[in-house]
Amino acid sequence: MDIVTAPVYPDLSLFIDGIFIAADGRVQQDVLNPATGAVIGKLPHASREDLDAALAAADRAFKTWHRSSPVERSKILRRAADLFRERAPEIARGITLDMGKPYAEALAEVMGGAEHAEWHAEECRRIYGRVIPPRIDGVRQLVLREPIGVCAAFTPWNFPFNQAIRKVVAAIGAGCTLVLKGPEDAPSAVVAIARVFADAGLPAGCLNLVWGVPAEVSDYLIRSPVVRKISFTGSVPVGKQLAALAGSLMKRCTMELGGHSPAIVFDDADIDRAAELLANMKYRNAGQVCVSPSRMYVQEQAYDRFLDKFAQVASGLKVGSGLDKDTRMGPLAHQKRVPTMESFIDDADQRGGKVVVGGARIEGDGNFFAPTVITDVPDDSRLMTQEPFGPIAPIVRFKDFDEVVRRANSLPYGLASYAFTRSSRNATAIANAIEAGMVNINHFGIALSETPFGGVKDSGYGSEGGTETFDGYLVTKFVTQLN
Ligand code: NAD
Repeated sequence: MDIVTAPVYPDLSLFIDGIFIAADGRVQQDVLNPATGAVIGKLPHASREDLDAALAAADRAFKTWHRSSPVERSKILRRAADLFRERAPEIARGITLDMGKPYAEALAEVMGGAEHAEWHAEECRRIYGRVIPPRIDGVRQLVLREPIGVCAAFTPWNFPFNQAIRKVVAAIGAGCTLVLKGPEDAPSAVVAIARVFADAGLPAGCLNLVWGVPAEVSDYLIRSPVVRKISFTGSVPVGKQLAALAGSLMKRCTMELGGHSPAIVFDDADIDRAAELLANMKYRNAGQVCVSPSRMYVQEQAYDRFLDKFAQVASGLKVGSGLDKDTRMGPLAHQKRVPTMESFIDDADQRGGKVVVGGARIEGDGNFFAPTVITDVPDDSRLMTQEPFGPIAPIVRFKDFDEVVRRANSLPYGLASYAFTRSSRNATAIANAIEAGMVNINHFGIALSETPFGGVKDSGYGSEGGTETFDGYLVTKFVTQLN
């Protein structure tokens, strides 16, 4: 049996002060395979004492780690990148088993995460301050950039490896330490991250991993006086709650929240290419992607051709277990997401929407929902106003530039956006007009380690990746000195 099909799921644990801690009488949570509903693992929850131990370890470790040489941090991050690549097949298999995405997507996620570690290894050696010329002779004015302190990070289940690694490498590279709570539903990738850092020589206490009831753990960690910074990836309502609590305690936040990304296809675009690319992007990870193109606006002349091509891709996708190598779309990660998809379809149906492809759950074991295309949904329908976070693609018509910009910008979200046009004038105008943290024109090119990833409006604030990546983990200290 090869690595893809071997049904082995790794042991799960907490990781506190350099030690992997098994259940040992703690509360445990079942981990399910979303493709079958079978229990594949048991995840220990952290007790109050465990959370205190993790905070104390991170606090202790910070006292030395924040003074570590960037060269030392860089070496550890580089070693971690090598180990991620070496272990990618087994980490990816764990992701497919507990989260459901096709193995090839899981493997790409881990390899992309390794690049993040490598890029942060390079970039952490270039965290520079500056010298400001003085007004008075004999004065030296220095701007120092120092690590902010202990961070608390909360990461979601849709990219269990990638969402966690972005936070870990940014914090570690900046000289911070952290307590990380990963996704309880899909925990294996985050345990693998802790194992890699332990093996790469990261000192005990720099990275601590805890699990539990999300609201209880986040509340406890954010309130701790030890924690100076919060980083969260997840939904807008939860992000707002965490940011409000952090704000009341004057703690810095990075918030990577949901989106509802408009994809605008102009008449002059390469229509077939746009349809193919957007359909493949849309159904990647069963649509459970915060930057998924989730509202397709197509100009009138291009509409029929675009719809045909998009529907052709959607209806040709093979849906099944992510371990099956022909599978192009896996199950939804949670059982509860299936009725959520049905409620989007019901609402669209009541509002005049027409299902062109799919439109229903796939009966049998597992949380499968058919790749779906819906047209003629009004702008105030649920599908056009709330992030579906699933494999449903609404496709609607527009007439002109100003109209589509108004409609695209009408929601409180502002994460990713897409536009397809052969006119450079249109391309520049749309890039300027769209209210989003990221704009893709004529291709998909975001979420690379060297480019900033982040949103505006309700989609949050702060960037992960790019040279901006360390900004959220550093504070500025000004020193003026008369000799
Ligand atoms: P949810 O809001 O219940 O949870 C989203 C994530 O946040 C989960 O990983 C969850 O464990 C965590 N979480 C929930 N409450 C928390 C709290 N009080 N403290 C800390 N962490 C907490 O939503 P869901 O049903 O799991 O997922 C669906 C929605 O989540 C989608 O509509 C999407 O907007 C959002 N989501 C976004 C991303 C992203 O990449 N931005 C990732 C996953 C989910």
